Amino acid sequence: MNTIQSDFTTLIDELAFNIRQVVEIQQGFVPLHIPVIGGNANKYVAECIDTGWVSSVGKFVDRFEKDLAEFTGANRAVAVVNGTSALHVALLLSDVRPNDEILVPSLTFVATTNAIMYCNAVPHFVDINRETLGIDPDAIREYLHEITEIRNGECINRETGRRIQCLVGMHTFGHCFDIQDTLELCQEFGISLVEDAAESIGSYFQNRHTGTFGRLGIFSFNGNKTITTGGGGAIVTNDDGLADLAKHLTTTGKVNHPFRYFHDQVAFNYRMPNLNAALGCSQLEDLPSLLASKRQIANRYIETFSDWEYGSIFVEPPDSKSNYWLNALLLSDSSGDLLDQIIEGLQEKQIMTRPVWDPIHTLPAYTQMPRMNLDVTTELSKRILNLPSTPSVV
Ligand SMILES: *Cc1c(COP(=O)(O)O)cnc(C)c1O
Repeated sequence: MNTIQSDFTTLIDELAFNIRQVVEIQQGFVPLHIPVIGGNANKYVAECIDTGWVSSVGKFVDRFEKDLAEFTGANRAVAVVNGTSALHVALLLSDVRPNDEILVPSLTFVATTNAIMYCNAVPHFVDINRETLGIDPDAIREYLHEITEIRNGECINRETGRRIQCLVGMHTFGHCFDIQDTLELCQEFGISLVEDAAESIGSYFQNRHTGTFGRLGIFSFNGNKTITTGGGGAIVTNDDGLADLAKHLTTTGKVNHPFRYFHDQVAFNYRMPNLNAALGCSQLEDLPSLLASKRQIANRYIETFSDWEYGSIFVEPPDSKSNYWLNALLLSDSSGDLLDQIIEGLQEKQIMTRPVWDPIHTLPAYTQMPRMNLDVTTELSKRILNLPSTPSVV
């Protein structure tokens, strides 16, 4: 065995040992992230089944919306089938029209940009900040000054002639992007902000919950997120009118009436079933303890890797509190080779780790879309390794 090979074996052994210590799973498979379901989950879900209220009507949907609004401090929450549909409707309600350009980070899950495409709008990729892993308002400001002009109060891309209407910010792995600066940027250019807070339930910027800063924010409750409804999502807003419209658009546009089926527009069947909302109600009850457990895991990772020579754990940005949904190890090596080797090496030891998403501007459907310089995105995408982050059962 040559030296490099034996060094690498030691590296993987060390990594495997450290990860198992942190997540307290000494043997067997260590998943990246699995749902932790306990508390009243059985009771609430059984209640749906026993009473027959499993589908589009039932008390748990109303309760989930109320509880979620209360937890996040948003005026209103509207529960829907998944985070992607929440984004789709949030964009429509932000007045995104066909052919508008929507600023969006390339380092995100593909759902963010797919929702833009559903509106027949054009994703326009912007770079991220290495301190937050989210959109970089300073770099975007400089870029917009270069390529846009304000015509009749609208921000127009001079190169394409299209309106830049909206900025979708995403809180990567639960870490907050700089919301304060972003709001100022949006104000300056007359652009609306939609927060893709799919990953950031329980994350706060300056003590205010993510998702509640823009006109509209969205969450996902897919099985891999911090809390789950099986599949599900929600739109949050402080604007009652927008919330009513969101409810209307996601429930087939039916006009309230004791028995008639009158639908005033082509709308969507995006409502969250009662069965899923029942699970969501119990998950919201468990959320504070799940968050505490996640913070503990993050702190242990941070300490364990504090003077590791190949990289360090990404720590929550200043002025904010992260939910530490998925812990990220930032490797010092930026070739991407070490990343792949570590994932394979740990897989053999039954430990699941994952790279971050391929940047969206490199996916076939998106290579032709406009973009600014994406150097930080490109570099970091080859250095991020997500580590097992399931909260221990509480
Ligand atoms: C999970 C996720 C979504 C989509 O949520 P689904 O519920 O899976 O549709 C959107 N954006 C981001 C950043 C996500 O991580």
